[in-house]
Amino acid sequence: MSSLTPQVTSSVDPASLATSQQHTDFLVIGAGIAGLSAAIRLSRAGSVLVITKEELAESNTAYAQGGIAVAIGGEEDVALHYQDTLAAGDGLVNPEAAHVLVEQGPQRVEELLAWGTDFDRENGELMLTREGAHSRSRILHANGDATGKEIAVSLLRHVRTIPNIRLMEWTTGIDLLTDKGRIIGATLLDGEGGILSVHARATLLASGGAGQVYSDTTNPAVATGDGIAMAYRAGAAVSDMEFYQFHPTAFSQPGAPRFLLSEALRGEGAYLVNAKGERFMHRYHPLLELAPRDVVARAITREGIDGPVYLDMRKATRDLHERFPGISRFLAKYRLELNRDLIPVRPAAHYLMGGILTDVHGRTTVPGLYAAGEAACTGVHGANRLASNSLLEGLVFGALAADAMIADTASQPNPMISIPSLLPPIEGNTPDADTERWIENLRNSMWRYAGLLRDAEGLETMQRKLEALAATLPRGLSRRAIEARNLHAVASIIVASALARHESRGAHYRNDYPKRDPIARHSMMRNEKLTFEPQPSSRAEV
Ligand SMILES: Cc1cc2nc3c(=O)[nH]c(=O)nc-3n(C[C@H](O)[C@H](O)[C@H](O)COP(=O)(O)OP(=O)(O)OC[C@H]3O[C@@H](n4cnc5c(N)ncnc54)[C@H](O)[C@@H]3O)c2cc1C
Repeated sequence: MSSLTPQVTSSVDPASLATSQQHTDFLVIGAGIAGLSAAIRLSRAGSVLVITKEELAESNTAYAQGGIAVAIGGEEDVALHYQDTLAAGDGLVNPEAAHVLVEQGPQRVEELLAWGTDFDRENGELMLTREGAHSRSRILHANGDATGKEIAVSLLRHVRTIPNIRLMEWTTGIDLLTDKGRIIGATLLDGEGGILSVHARATLLASGGAGQVYSDTTNPAVATGDGIAMAYRAGAAVSDMEFYQFHPTAFSQPGAPRFLLSEALRGEGAYLVNAKGERFMHRYHPLLELAPRDVVARAITREGIDGPVYLDMRKATRDLHERFPGISRFLAKYRLELNRDLIPVRPAAHYLMGGILTDVHGRTTVPGLYAAGEAACTGVHGANRLASNSLLEGLVFGALAADAMIADTASQPNPMISIPSLLPPIEGNTPDADTERWIENLRNSMWRYAGLLRDAEGLETMQRKLEALAATLPRGLSRRAIEARNLHAVASIIVASALARHESRGAHYRNDYPKRDPIARHSMMRNEKLTFEPQPSSRAEV
């Protein structure tokens, strides 16, 4: 296997460049739903610094449309939510994590409501919709199709009232700081290009996913897998990285962004039709348009060989502008209307099921380091995430990670010493235009060779490309150069894991191994060693 952390030689170390050193009890990297819900809880036990790469509201969380799945209908609903989560995950869901998610979900959502999140209501009652692979309607939504924005705004409003929490925008985590095998903070790049090191009793990576590793993605620019690459460089185990969920229905028009056309459209009755105007999902799955996402995404890819595939809502009777105002506004820019036009769609990289291996309390395999939300892998999604389970994941596991950080460090003094960063020292600066071209090359190749339909030939080609790209890895401490190196690390782990998994399961599909193995195993990568671990009944002991 090729080296996953290419070394760029020099004598310069980012920590030695640090112009200032700061201290906080708890450092939270990321201001999405996982980071903010953790910060709120952490603030009861000490000072919290939350950093985010761009504006506070720029995260995957803010783009979430469809809603948040939660079993508010009592015990039977909780049991069914658990079963649906397990079924979607295709044999690889960690049962303990799924239990925690569905059982603690209602309580965490109650908290959100208390903090002012305004979910849509009808006659005063919370409205619930249904999405693919859910056996009943249990998705709360806000402002029709702007659930994430409402959650992000209300969490931020609440966070701003808490004096113990300090927020730093336009600040990029570069690497983690270690002392005797323990994580004691991170080096950061601020908005002016200054380097600072922050020391903390415990550090939480809530840095979200890595959709930007693919050319076609619904994820915003901040989703470059930084936290996963940082944790990996620090020696933490990462798991199940080959499982990338491709959302079936992203808008597909040349020159237009890959805007998400929420699954809720199909929940409300949208059909999928091929270039001949025929519905086709009956050929792929009994649940038709509400089949699991990977099935729908592959069906669209196959039907798309002969021409465009469309979402068809022309027979809908309800007011779609009212139910999907954000989507309607977006489509209007392209002179399209949900009630009137066929809407062209194709899949795009959407959600990373894998990530930094944690137990259900957010503990990684390295002391002092915690992870939650899309950056983490508790195994709660297995090989394929159930729609709308990820906002809930951030909420539930963000809070649990905070509790563990407080409990584990109650008697831990705040580290004061200065030690070098883990980042391979970087000398020189790659010009911005070259860095952009390098990133584009990586993303296009990943889409082509390690995307929705995989085989050994394509994945081996991608491995060779990654080796070649390693030789020209962008240098320097600009944000884009940092992201480029992180994307390379994440892509390398995805490809190595995908190549080694000789089966098709959930979102990972191999043309050359179309069947599922009888034994479910998790991939695990640590210190450049890839292993497959059996599916335990509990993954609490990582
Ligand atoms: C278009 C779209 C629609 C979606 N719809 C839904 C839905 O309806 N329901 C659902 O459940 N899920 C949905 N998802 C998925 C869901 O939004 C995410 O999985 C979830 O919000 C992730 O939350 P998070 O807190 O883990 O990460 P994010 O919300 O992505 O937050 C990550 C944070 O980390 C910061 N960050 C990253 N790297 C660094 C760094 N190096 N230094 C400092 N900060 C850093 C970012 O700036 C950001 O603040 C959707 C996703 C997208 C993209």
